[in-house]
Amino acid sequence: MNREVWIWAEQRQGRLLPVCFELLGKGHELCQDLEGKLAAVLLGSAVAGLCPELMDYGCEKVYLAEDPRLSLYQADLYTDALSQLIDERRPEIVLWGATTTGTELSARVAARLKIGLTAHCIDLYIEDREGEPRLVQVVPGWSGNLAVKTISRTIPQMATVKPNLMARASQRKVEGDIIPIAVDIEEKDLRAETIETVEEEPEALPLEQAEIVVSGGWGLNAVGGFAPVEEIAAILGGAVAGTRPAFDRGWIPESRIIGISGKIVSPKLFISLGASGATQYTTGFARSQVILAVDQNPDAPIFEIADIGIVGDLQTILPLLIKELKGEA
Ligand SMILES: Cc1cc2nc3c(=O)[nH]c(=O)nc-3n(C[C@H](O)[C@H](O)[C@H](O)COP(=O)(O)OP(=O)(O)OC[C@H]3O[C@@H](n4cnc5c(N)ncnc54)[C@H](O)[C@@H]3O)c2cc1C
Repeated sequence: MNREVWIWAEQRQGRLLPVCFELLGKGHELCQDLEGKLAAVLLGSAVAGLCPELMDYGCEKVYLAEDPRLSLYQADLYTDALSQLIDERRPEIVLWGATTTGTELSARVAARLKIGLTAHCIDLYIEDREGEPRLVQVVPGWSGNLAVKTISRTIPQMATVKPNLMARASQRKVEGDIIPIAVDIEEKDLRAETIETVEEEPEALPLEQAEIVVSGGWGLNAVGGFAPVEEIAAILGGAVAGTRPAFDRGWIPESRIIGISGKIVSPKLFISLGASGATQYTTGFARSQVILAVDQNPDAPIFEIADIGIVGDLQTILPLLIKELKGEA
């Protein structure tokens, strides 16, 4: 059986995004269980130079579409090109990085081809179902306290994965094939055109690079907001982050949400204050070296993942913690 596992090789300005290498690692694992071939789909203008890099990480095939019209992400054009290719070749599995582009494009392709797509998977593996190997797609469900296994009934089975969640592939050089694909789309079929993309100002300390992350949850209400989180982060030289409710409350920008629908981090020290520990949140920092959690509820799930847990009221604990960190205790 010639099954193929594809990864969407997203590139920006001629560079593969780091998530591609994470998808290649998982794709390789799935290929071993499927006895399949690992392939990448690469779209862009003059991007053929990226093929050897993909092959260095185990890609046995690269489906390559080069066209000046593909130099910037064009929603209509990319959707058409990928839908045509997937429809024609019917790979067994397609994995996408859950970047802004990957999230949009995967959903568009799934809708176009009427096939399943599981978003924000935290694990992916092959399981035998009625004699057929199927992709089990694990997502957090029911307020984050359950891991839900999803099986797609359509082929290809498609899943998105957050950047930084899965281990990066190790180098595994193969002699791969480059398969050129034509972009057979007429201008009149394109409804919108991206003319320019504007990069955001780089953050002073990007969350993903911080060695210490101090994160707060809804429980910060008890102390009137995020000031103590910011103070602790400043003392430790760490970055500020929070849960989704902390964002809803206006305490942090969207770019600082930790979790399955936010950022995935793995710092040396992660401090969680007043957050209950839903899987959607904890998935975002589970690979941290040391996790310290403070919450007043001794049964909060956050303590299942914490290396050091402090059960107590933030109103009492935070002033003590700040004093201690300042060396004033
Ligand atoms: C599809 C989907 C995706 C999601 N993605 C994310 C995501 O990426 N990131 C995310 O964070 N959430 C996400 N969520 C929401 C998630 O399920 C939880 O609802 C959320 O993480 C809970 O946030 P919290 O811990 O701040 O609030 P709560 O669950 O309300 O917890 C507040 C905690 O504060 C404690 N507390 C209250 N007062 C005090 C006090 N005085 N002293 C000490 N402790 C106190 C409480 O004991 C409690 O444990 C998602 C949900 C869905 C359905």
